[in-house]
Amino acid sequence: MAEDTPTALFFELFSGLPRQGPGDAASTLRALALVPDIGPDTRVLDVGCGTGCQTRVLAQNAPVRVVAVDNHRPFVEVLNQEARRLGLADRVEARVGDMRHLDFAEASFDLIWCEGAIYIMGVEEALRHWRRLLVAGGHVALTEVCWTRPNPPQECAAFWRQEYPAIRETSALLEAIDDCGFETVGHFPLPASAWWDDYYRPLQGNVTAFRKRYADAPDAQELADQCQREIDVWGAYADCYGYEFFVLRAR
Ligand code: SAH
Repeated sequence: MAEDTPTALFFELFSGLPRQGPGDAASTLRALALVPDIGPDTRVLDVGCGTGCQTRVLAQNAPVRVVAVDNHRPFVEVLNQEARRLGLADRVEARVGDMRHLDFAEASFDLIWCEGAIYIMGVEEALRHWRRLLVAGGHVALTEVCWTRPNPPQECAAFWRQEYPAIRETSALLEAIDDCGFETVGHFPLPASAWWDDYYRPLQGNVTAFRKRYADAPDAQELADQCQREIDVWGAYADCYGYEFFVLRAR
């Protein structure tokens, strides 16, 4: 894909990070432990894998086979390289693909994994769309940002209304999941450290360097402003929202 300048700048800002969204290995493993009958025959589809932080955690801790999909080719290349370096290439394959048009045969997977990426489609659309890829009774593990208390302060609410109006309380999301024909096996919040340690802290470093590099480019500065705003809102209002991990089973 030939990337236009804003997209190239965006990916430059997000390059070299350990991961591309909030998360941590302990939470990935906690969610995996909620999925029954994991074994060498388990076929996992990791959607919106990014550079594959969670893909590697899954493959290094369980004998599963993983196909990982992301629409940004450089991320896919990083993951395939890492898989080779770690001796996982026989069980991990990353491919360029669009989560809205996943062209796998019906019932190709036992488990669909999606950390920090389902917001791109929205939970309901993604669950309805991906269901045909799952075997009967297959599982989905996903993370999604949720309000953790009612009536967040105006500044925080306004930020999210603009960035992701679909954000809701965990209880509302549980109902939506049920309406999509999935039962919730378990759910738990990501710890605050999962936002900071491997995501916002390194991203903050990128934002600072990016600002200096593009000191004379207003569009780059605006992009840096937006990113800084997201980090700052989290810094001020982390008690109002968080990522929730959900493990679901298709009914
Ligand atoms: N799971 C990773 C990445 C999350 S960021 C992690 O937790 O670190 C969201 C990812 O979704 C990015 O890597 C982005 O390139 C990818 N993405 C965005 N739109 C997509 C689409 N339509 N299809 C597939 N991947 C997409």
